[in-house]
Amino acid sequence: MVYYTKTTSSKDGHKICSKCFREKGINEFYNQKGSRDGKRSSCTECVKKYNKAKGRINLRKYYSKNPHKAINKIVGRDIIIAERTPAWADKSILRWYAEQAITLTNITGISYSVDHEIPLVGKYVSGLNVGDNLQIITTEKNTQKSMSYKLDSYI
Ligand SMILES: [Zn+2]
Repeated sequence: MVYYTKTTSSKDGHKICSKCFREKGINEFYNQKGSRDGKRSSCTECVKKYNKAKGRINLRKYYSKNPHKAINKIVGRDIIIAERTPAWADKSILRWYAEQAITLTNITGISYSVDHEIPLVGKYVSGLNVGDNLQIITTEKNTQKSMSYKLDSYI
């Protein structure tokens, strides 16, 4: 039976994680300057788990400040799109936009997506899923837009 008293024993290329107490190869630990063996005390897996949990907490804080964004996540994009598509919307136009985005992506090798000029779930105003509210922009631009959106400009 082997008893471990220390978590830092990296001489044999192995080390015991201080979080999950599993013995792992030294390359499964991130480097940390200033520590005795130059490695962190918990393994990469545990560090990742910790960061993920921290990320979730930050996300919750963000959503409590931006509840309209949380609706997108909770309700689900498909349901929102269905709800924001009026009966009179021309479905062939919506399809056309989706096809154009795919075609552009294939031709240019740059990812394009269909964007709603006025977001479907906005802070003050919500747009509809109709042709007049659609535009094709790069996915990169789309992501930037959703991150820095100034909905106040639509009042
Ligand atoms: Zn661990």
